[in-house]
Amino acid sequence: MQKIEMKTPLVEMDGDEMTRVLWKMIKESLILPYVDLKTEYYDLGLVFRERTHDKVTTDAANAVKRLGVGVKCATITPNEGRMSEYHLSEKYKSPNGTIRAILDGTVFRAPILIPSIKPAVRSWKKPIIIARHAYGDVYRCTEFRVPSKGKAELLFTADTGECTRQTIYDFEGPGVIQGMYNKDSSIASFARSCLNFAVSMKMDLWFSAKDTISKIYDQRFRDIFDEVYQNEFRQKFEENNLTYFYTLIDDAVARVIRSEGGFIWACKNYDGDVMSDMVSTAFGSLAMMSSVLVSPDGNYEYEAAHGTVTRHYYRYLNGERTSTNPVATIFAWSGALAKRGEKDNLPDLVQFGHRIEKAVLDTLNDGIMTKDLCSLSEDNEKEPVYTDEFLSAVKARLES
Ligand code: NAP
Ligand code: MG
Repeated sequence: MQKIEMKTPLVEMDGDEMTRVLWKMIKESLILPYVDLKTEYYDLGLVFRERTHDKVTTDAANAVKRLGVGVKCATITPNEGRMSEYHLSEKYKSPNGTIRAILDGTVFRAPILIPSIKPAVRSWKKPIIIARHAYGDVYRCTEFRVPSKGKAELLFTADTGECTRQTIYDFEGPGVIQGMYNKDSSIASFARSCLNFAVSMKMDLWFSAKDTISKIYDQRFRDIFDEVYQNEFRQKFEENNLTYFYTLIDDAVARVIRSEGGFIWACKNYDGDVMSDMVSTAFGSLAMMSSVLVSPDGNYEYEAAHGTVTRHYYRYLNGERTSTNPVATIFAWSGALAKRGEKDNLPDLVQFGHRIEKAVLDTLNDGIMTKDLCSLSEDNEKEPVYTDEFLSAVKARLES
């Protein structure tokens, strides 16, 4: 059989632990036999990050900027334990954070649905994709523990030297203060990424915040979304019969629960952090959640939403066969290949991406699944398969 040709290479970012093991298995069984794979390879595994003092992460992110599409394996974000485990000279930042900062991107998380796993919310029939603004707010705030009675003020000094001063609170005793910020440019990028993604997915876009209470901060988010929509996207939305609307976060939560799904929900940074965990848990499993980072200028980075599945890795190192779910990582590859095909005008590559996904769904629908899914499935007679057995079952369906 002739292999499917590629033009531009994919940016391939390898990772850590069990997902690194899955990465190799997926490539060898589902991709290399069928695609004349071209990649620019970056090893984001912690060992090589240490060797390059994390330069490899920056290089990989810049490569995605240059080439347009990347696929990333899960990676360790080091904590104290990892510092000694990997003999690190520095506590490196989260690779995802570094990549997001360079691409100025928004993360979209989408569940992979199968009929035998019912969402905890009965009305949900279609995926709900959460778009989280990944910059600023409480994640970059300045905090202060007020020790005693005193006056807290908000002071802004303009470049010209002009000052604006407002009282936050006249403290009669100890308390706490938090100062946070966001930038018009980052909010506009976020809006553009969400609106672009909605058009490319042909899905409605909801945006929620709390402008009734936060009359300047959240109002600014609302206004910028509206401006970008009116000036750059309204026509595209109308042509595609799509809707964009803003609503209060509390109203959005109520509507989401009553909905059938099938839309993109854009959230501010903190709301997105919390709501994406709620939505992914209600849809089933983190191992069935895919994730794509989209930059405002249209670069894409695909990955699984879960981590490196450490506990399974230690069992693997002990020589055990594990039943680790490779679905989200396969979907990262299929999504990246299809997007590469779309950008390079290679219909065969696009179709191959879709075919892998269909083979995975067919396998799951035939009742062949890893341990994490068996426990969620309606049919609790199911016997879990090992990862390699699952991949062989997918391969068999891909070939037929
Ligand atoms: P995790 O790797 O997602 O695993 C948490 C637990 O969820 C696992 O122990 C496993 O449960 C289950 N699980 C997750 N993915 C699974 C899969 N594909 N198949 C089967 N079960 C799965 O999260 P973590 O343990 O919090 O983090 C481990 C490492 O991953 C950390 O070093 C962290 O920094 C990193 N991390 C990376 C990313 C990323 O690169 N995007 C994201 C999150 C975390 P059982 O053990 O009960 O089977
Ligand atoms: Mg979270």
